[in-house]
Amino acid sequence: MLRWSALEGSYQTLLRLASVVALLTTGNTLSVSSFPSLSSSPPTSVFSSSQGNSLRSTTPVWLPEHVLVYPAMYKYKPVMYSHRDDLTAAGNTVSTGDKDGGGGGEEGGKEEIDVKNTTQPLNKNFRLPASLRPTHYIVRVQPYINGNYSVRGSVQIDIEVLQSTSNITLHVSTMDIHVQDIQLEAAEGDEEGASIPRFTHFVDNLDVEVFTAHLDGELEAGRRVRYTVPYEGTLEHYMGGFYGLHYTDVDGTERYMVSTLNQPVNARIAFPCFDEPQLKATFELHVARQVNMTAVSNMPLLTTTPIEDQEGWVWDSFQTTPPMSTYLLMLVVMSLPHINITAHRQDLPIRIWARQEVLDRMSFMHQVVPGVLDFMETYTNISYSLSKLDIIVVPSQEGIAFEGWGAILMYDERFIQHDPLENDEVNLGKVAWVQAHELAHQWFGNLVTPRWWGDVWLSEGITTYMSNLAMQKMAIVSQSVAAEASFTLHELFHEDSQITAVPVFNQQLDVFKPDTYFNVFSYFKCSLLLHMMAHVLSHHAFRKGMVSFLHEHQYGSVGQDDLSRHLTKAAHETHTLPQDLTVKTILDTWTHQAGYPLVTVTRSPAGTSATAFQEKYLWSQNSSLLSDHYSTWWVPLTHTSQASPDFNDTLVKVWLKGTETQTSVHNLPTRDHWVVFNLQQTGYYRVNYDDNNWNLLIQQLLTDHQLIHVNNRVQMIDDILNLASSGKVSYNTALSLVEYIKKENETLPWRVFQRNMEHMKKMLQSTPAYEGFKKYMWSLLVPLWNLVGLENKLEVQTIQQEHSEAVKWACHHNLPSCVYLAASLYAQWMLTPENIKVVPRDLWGTVYCTAIAHGGEAEWDFAWQQYFLSNDIHHKEQLLAALSCSRDTWEENGYLDLALTSEIKQRTQGAFQVFYSVASNPGGKPLAWNFLTSRWSALANFSFIYSVRYSDSGAAVEQLVVAAAETLTSQQDMDKLRVFRDNHRDNPRVVAASEVALDIVARNVAWMERNYDVICEWLQARGFNIGLR
Ligand SMILES: [Zn+2]
Repeated sequence: MLRWSALEGSYQTLLRLASVVALLTTGNTLSVSSFPSLSSSPPTSVFSSSQGNSLRSTTPVWLPEHVLVYPAMYKYKPVMYSHRDDLTAAGNTVSTGDKDGGGGGEEGGKEEIDVKNTTQPLNKNFRLPASLRPTHYIVRVQPYINGNYSVRGSVQIDIEVLQSTSNITLHVSTMDIHVQDIQLEAAEGDEEGASIPRFTHFVDNLDVEVFTAHLDGELEAGRRVRYTVPYEGTLEHYMGGFYGLHYTDVDGTERYMVSTLNQPVNARIAFPCFDEPQLKATFELHVARQVNMTAVSNMPLLTTTPIEDQEGWVWDSFQTTPPMSTYLLMLVVMSLPHINITAHRQDLPIRIWARQEVLDRMSFMHQVVPGVLDFMETYTNISYSLSKLDIIVVPSQEGIAFEGWGAILMYDERFIQHDPLENDEVNLGKVAWVQAHELAHQWFGNLVTPRWWGDVWLSEGITTYMSNLAMQKMAIVSQSVAAEASFTLHELFHEDSQITAVPVFNQQLDVFKPDTYFNVFSYFKCSLLLHMMAHVLSHHAFRKGMVSFLHEHQYGSVGQDDLSRHLTKAAHETHTLPQDLTVKTILDTWTHQAGYPLVTVTRSPAGTSATAFQEKYLWSQNSSLLSDHYSTWWVPLTHTSQASPDFNDTLVKVWLKGTETQTSVHNLPTRDHWVVFNLQQTGYYRVNYDDNNWNLLIQQLLTDHQLIHVNNRVQMIDDILNLASSGKVSYNTALSLVEYIKKENETLPWRVFQRNMEHMKKMLQSTPAYEGFKKYMWSLLVPLWNLVGLENKLEVQTIQQEHSEAVKWACHHNLPSCVYLAASLYAQWMLTPENIKVVPRDLWGTVYCTAIAHGGEAEWDFAWQQYFLSNDIHHKEQLLAALSCSRDTWEENGYLDLALTSEIKQRTQGAFQVFYSVASNPGGKPLAWNFLTSRWSALANFSFIYSVRYSDSGAAVEQLVVAAAETLTSQQDMDKLRVFRDNHRDNPRVVAASEVALDIVARNVAWMERNYDVICEWLQARGFNIGLR
């Protein structure tokens, strides 16, 4: 299970904000170097990462590794001392040894060789020439982790010449290349006696990090050469390549370690290499370490030998890897303790390395790791490929995890700890899911690797899907994974209907902007597309296709068409797909374009047939943004009816083809029986019906909602509230349908309902209608509240799991009995501050926020003090959020300033969290806006740092503009925004952000004009009185 309770509202927006605001909140610590200078000649001081720039804190907890890791990494892409400086210093000329060939490496005389240092831009989509293929690397490194943070290294690459060429081009990032010692010689298997050309000059392209050795003659196709490049680098840079970090042990000792993060394009920071994922080779790693440390890599240790002349140092040599991509080479040198895990089979040693206090909270891993490995081996019919597995928990709290082959890295201790005594199933689900995801990568991603980063969903989407299956199989947590997938789908539906949504397959991507391809779509949309395909093709055919895909391409690399081909073959053999239809035809329509269809079902007057019409569903109705409104998909239609309800048959009944906008569906019942399309919502699309069918469904839900599958109840709630919001269905119909929720005792419909009503609350909260709306919400919540309360006397199993959520909703809507209980609990805590357990852990956020919102200065001050006293990160986060719940505007005003000037901004995205919370509060709206405009210059400065360090994909302030717009609903707000935009005409990105914000506000204004009176009438007709407008 994944209980992503941190997800509310626009999580994609939050995600982007999270990544950029981390910079915003830490921008001015950039030049602080916290790395020690332990030697007489430390490397040039460079940007350091260890202070306050982590992306944890309010980052949604469900996100796996990369989405969080990469924005951070690239922002701080090091501006380091590098070989380029040296080349420049040497007047672009260095001396290099003459590499006379003749098959024997005969030493020649010295001569001057030109080195050109160029910034001439190559295409950002630059790919290495297809002329060379690396087959084997020998990497030797000596990291001075307890010394001056330098790394001495040498790489020896065996290369097969595929096409005749007169240069050797590979990737090199921030390091000193010892150009004079570069060698080229014949490798094993080369032509007997063939001569080796000599180097003429080297060209170094900074933009795409490519280093080219030009030769005075051709290397003919079929030749095999060995290219040796000695270099010197540093561990002192932000996460990427081999990098150093330090942490404090439980006894207060400061310790240092080396870790790796090579994905996507950082192996070139660690060592010169052909840094493209499809260029797989075998790796032999030798690392020099001090005797009191341990080195871990992908493969088991082979030998350890003392280093002559260096007392206390040894060489660790590891077994040669199978063929793999450069980004998977792992190296960790540390002095962490470990525990052993008993695997599902005897011959596989599994170790987990972490600080002792973290190891003590890992009992669940004895179940999770063998369980997932067993599941993956059974599902794929391929044994785990390596002869050992290490999991190393790096005490860094930057990002979440990386799927290193044979050596998984966890970057945040919180994502691997679970205390059984806390009985926190949400946390257990989260940490188990992250492990399942990384373990599934050992097959999908590591064994079979996407050929290029534009296909990364073949690694991330499949892995996300497989980890869901593994979780379901292992039943570690009680909530069904299918239900969780359904909730994910509704979150994604919102993001994927925005103008900012992007296709998952992006051929033109810029590899230096990993957040554009490691995103919610490549992880979660693709997982849901696979879920859809498994239902379309049958689970049997789907698995058959996946297994043959894996078997054929193991140790190789793949593109989307390879997967489609295997799935097609399996489905044709199983007769679940027409022979004239391929998976590629279907799947391409879903991966090559952003968004998804709305299918509108209109039944004939007799009801017995219907037309199903498809159009792109867009949240915004702004016509200027509808350029690709006429997109079409291959939509698998499934349906059932009141006449003989069967929600389990999810095989396709009718295809709505990608070549047509509508199709006919026959054999439906008469018009007095409802129909439901998209059974169990296995298809990635929304459904609308004609009024008569909606009314039949409303009657059904009010009389016996359980006759309709819970996933379809969820679907109807989400679809109809969205359709009402975008003007396609009347709120009369929508609100009538959701009234049944009073009787709902499943949690998923409630969660989706609450998420949707949040939008309506934001719209109405500053209007007279809000009083009526609030009482209407109470009327729906009271039955649930009576069941749950703040106590744990629970009768309904599923509600029990969502206990804290139910309380949250009740308090969020100010249900008086909830407010009273929250205030009482908080008061008790104020009396005994040391006892934070007065308030149950899972209710911290709800209780604190409610008590502060309804309390006074004393409550706020108490939380403020506790924020600084607490050492518990989760507790701090809850306090930070709660501080913005105050209704007292002066407090909020002061709070925004404090957030930018105090310790808060040192802590992760504190400032953003504060801003967003304040902006979401009824009284906070104008404050947030004023703050944004009055503090503009300070904020814009952060934005500038962001843009030069990272990329131009977005800046903090732009995102703040958009966030501030979410609760703006009036023409005056529009005018303010226009003025703001016009004042920043000189900054195209701020103008662009303002346009997005204007679109949001325009939509809000239109929503108010269209729906306000309708909603007021509806509320009044049910006795929920509203004030005067
Ligand atoms: Zn992953």
